Amino acid sequence: MATEKQDSSRKRPPNFRIEIPGDETVKSRILEKLQRRNFWIKQQLGSDNTKELHPFPSTYSQTRRQDVDQGLFVTAAKSLDTYGELFEAHTSICNGKLKVLKRTMKGHVASVRLISGLLPVHYTRFVNGAGIGCITKERRSKFFRKYKEHAENESVQSVDNAINDEISSYDDLDDINIMTDARHGWRKNAKDTTVVALGEKTHKVMDCEHVTKSQDKVAQRHERLGTQKIYENLENKNVSIKIHAHDRNLAVNKFVRDTQFTVNQNDLWHAVKAVKKAVTKISKGEQLGDKVEPIATHINWAVRNCEQSSQKLKESLDNIVEHYCNNHVNCHHSSRCKVDSNYEPSRIVITNGKVRKMLESAIKSSTIYKYPQDYILAKDTFYVESFEHISRQKNLLW
Ligand SMILES: [Zn+2]
Repeated sequence: MATEKQDSSRKRPPNFRIEIPGDETVKSRILEKLQRRNFWIKQQLGSDNTKELHPFPSTYSQTRRQDVDQGLFVTAAKSLDTYGELFEAHTSICNGKLKVLKRTMKGHVASVRLISGLLPVHYTRFVNGAGIGCITKERRSKFFRKYKEHAENESVQSVDNAINDEISSYDDLDDINIMTDARHGWRKNAKDTTVVALGEKTHKVMDCEHVTKSQDKVAQRHERLGTQKIYENLENKNVSIKIHAHDRNLAVNKFVRDTQFTVNQNDLWHAVKAVKKAVTKISKGEQLGDKVEPIATHINWAVRNCEQSSQKLKESLDNIVEHYCNNHVNCHHSSRCKVDSNYEPSRIVITNGKVRKMLESAIKSSTIYKYPQDYILAKDTFYVESFEHISRQKNLLW
């Protein structure tokens, strides 16, 4: 079968032939196998390329009788490039072969759907045949219908219990204080919002409302709409809201004020954070760098000691500048600058008029200074924000 030519005088390099009986199908099969063998050998010898490569299929193709009536369509060069990129990306995450699932012809243009791995119908047939059970679409919706009712009942029960717990934490057993926060997300390709209300004393969920684009196309209005639904639900349960704290959504501020019954409060932590940011911004190389934290402490103290008076809160905030300019006339009688006769300022005294002006304007332009009535009760929405955080993480699993 093999002939070896040993005539070295000829220019052609020595070669030999192997003859194997068989038609074109056999030829193509053997060529493909040889390609695979080459690939395997390369892998065994170890190559610099650590990435696992797929064996190259033979590009030799012989049209067989059964292939002559296959569909023909034109392809733009760009589509072919895209296909290459898609294939590459697919190979990097999946070991399956990319196959044509469906081809829709529109004139001479074809839209092609590709799939890899098992076809859904094959998967279902396989698991049914093997008797290992399969979560089909029908079964999923059956589960959903069955458990939806129970989950809803549990949720209603849990909220009712939580409201009772919250009410019983107040002396007058009548009104409750709530804190709310909104989470904005994307579900089914549309912006949606979940507004949750926690009881101030128990930190339990009083209500949770989901607002979607179908209810209001403008996502910016979702928080207010969710809040309104929470108020309606609580009212239907004969629960009235005395104080409502939230993270200063202006539409919610207006809504709460318009109720004329509920006291509106904004989250102190966010407001103090904003002042810290403003002071840090103007403190570079000036006489303010050592005062960011003490000013934040002072604001927290001022809010908690203003005896719910907007006027007192503002005066106390005004005095921050005076205190750091070493003028302690209006400082609180309990503070060290008043009590200690040998008081020496622990921070750099502000002597520069320009610095004084900058600090003054930073404080006067803060939301606490401009809207003291929204902070005098010193409410933080920390708990509702951590609830938020947890449900966001859970949403990743759903
Ligand atoms: Zn002082």
